[in-house]
Amino acid sequence: MLGRKNTNRQPLFDGMPTGGAAVDAPGTVIVIGAGAAGLSAARVLHHAGRKVVVLEGRDRIGGRLNTIEVGDGIADEGGNWIHGVPANAVYHLAIEAGLDVERDDLLDPRHLVAHDQRSGRRVSSARILFALGRVAMLTRRYGSESIHAEHPEATLAERLDGEISKVRGATNRRYYRALVRTVFDMVAAKEAEYLSPNALTLNPGDSDGGADYVIHGGYQQLTTRLAGGLDIRLGTLVKAIRYEDDGVTIDTADGTHQGSHVIVTAPIGVLQAGTIEFNPPLPTPKQRAIEAVGVGVVEKLIFTFDEPFWRRKPESPRSVLYISETLGEFPAFVDTTDSAGCPMLVAFLTGDQVDQIADTPQRFIDRGCEVLQEIFPGDYLAPSAVHVTQWGTDPFSRCSYSTPTVGVTVDDYEQLAEPLAGRVLFAGEATYRRYAGFVQGAMGSGIREARRILGHPADLTI
Ligand SMILES: Cc1cc2nc3c(=O)[nH]c(=O)nc-3n(C[C@H](O)[C@H](O)[C@H](O)COP(=O)(O)OP(=O)(O)OC[C@H]3O[C@@H](n4cnc5c(N)ncnc54)[C@H](O)[C@@H]3O)c2cc1C
Repeated sequence: MLGRKNTNRQPLFDGMPTGGAAVDAPGTVIVIGAGAAGLSAARVLHHAGRKVVVLEGRDRIGGRLNTIEVGDGIADEGGNWIHGVPANAVYHLAIEAGLDVERDDLLDPRHLVAHDQRSGRRVSSARILFALGRVAMLTRRYGSESIHAEHPEATLAERLDGEISKVRGATNRRYYRALVRTVFDMVAAKEAEYLSPNALTLNPGDSDGGADYVIHGGYQQLTTRLAGGLDIRLGTLVKAIRYEDDGVTIDTADGTHQGSHVIVTAPIGVLQAGTIEFNPPLPTPKQRAIEAVGVGVVEKLIFTFDEPFWRRKPESPRSVLYISETLGEFPAFVDTTDSAGCPMLVAFLTGDQVDQIADTPQRFIDRGCEVLQEIFPGDYLAPSAVHVTQWGTDPFSRCSYSTPTVGVTVDDYEQLAEPLAGRVLFAGEATYRRYAGFVQGAMGSGIREARRILGHPADLTI
């Protein structure tokens, strides 16, 4: 637990526009979505004295931040870690709010074991350290490239293949490939075969480095604080947005709301599905940007156990890597026991396989158990409870987060954030290119749009 206060009163989320297209006119601001972006926008506006109504389709707040009970423990179904600490503004905000945050590094080489399916044995820590070191260097190098850098390769996978081929020794190459693809594919929530070779230049927040932290008691602690005092209408599904020179009209399943501005924070997957109608229709550049920014899906299998059987041996791993003969098959199990309050392992899956998770979750649960049994023969115990997330098929998300697929450009991200007629504003993780995919991007985008309406600097306090 850390208790450092941000006493210099510098804005936590800087580098974003203050003012812009809209004017500070009286009237209600309607915010669509009570996730990190929507709640941040609403909170800044509420503090500045504006009337704000948040319309949320689900019967809960938080969006892709959702803390649930699994077995005897708690788990974050969606966003879980505050990455890149101390640079990450979410960390400082959580501290300011008095939340209990603790360090929880995902890939701490001192608490990591890897199992090789081919040999049926543990991988030596020297080999893992070598591979992880190269992954860290590569991430930094790619993240610091000029946005104008050109690459002959068509996809990130082709670029990575070039890097992998430089490693000497077939076994080292195989381990490096497994780790580099685990890190890149999981962070992007999509296989590198679909990603832009410029992925890390487009979303450089992925390469910030720094420590990982969790909020004790779950991310919901933060969204509950953000929501305090706000007018939030749960179970209010927005169907259409009509906008004119003098205001906006929002049609929901239960009636109509009018306001001076609307901030749309629906996820990129929902915008792509076109389930919210815009009238007049979205201009072509905006529609093109919505289609160009990729949709990534990463799902979690959350297992609880009566005993943390993987901690019986002296190394007591926090993360267990599985180097499968099939790339992307249960690549990582993360021990979240300390924050869960009961023995818990969380497996992450992405790529084409997650398309089948909603239809056949049991098949994935069974295979996850087989893999654990293979890694810990003799010690393995069957789980006491399992929960499988369904972000990819959930009608309120239709993705886990945005991802820089082949062909997406900086202009597309800028278009995504561009307001319409000074009345319809767009926030949400996908609209904040630097930290797209992260809570930091979501919150930053909400503050950016609140500032745009206010026309003056305003920060988030909770
Ligand atoms: C599995 C997973 C793991 C992740 N891990 C991390 C992590 O460790 N660290 C990190 O920083 N980030 C992580 N993220 C990403 C992070 O959770 C998101 O970037 C962030 O929460 C997005 O916030 P948002 O406000 O942009 O969108 P959302 O939280 O999705 O909010 C949008 C809201 O709009 C609502 N909505 C949608 N359509 C309508 C409609 N028609 N009418 C009314 N309401 C509507 C939705 O219900 C939702 O509440 C993870 C996400 C997932 C899914």
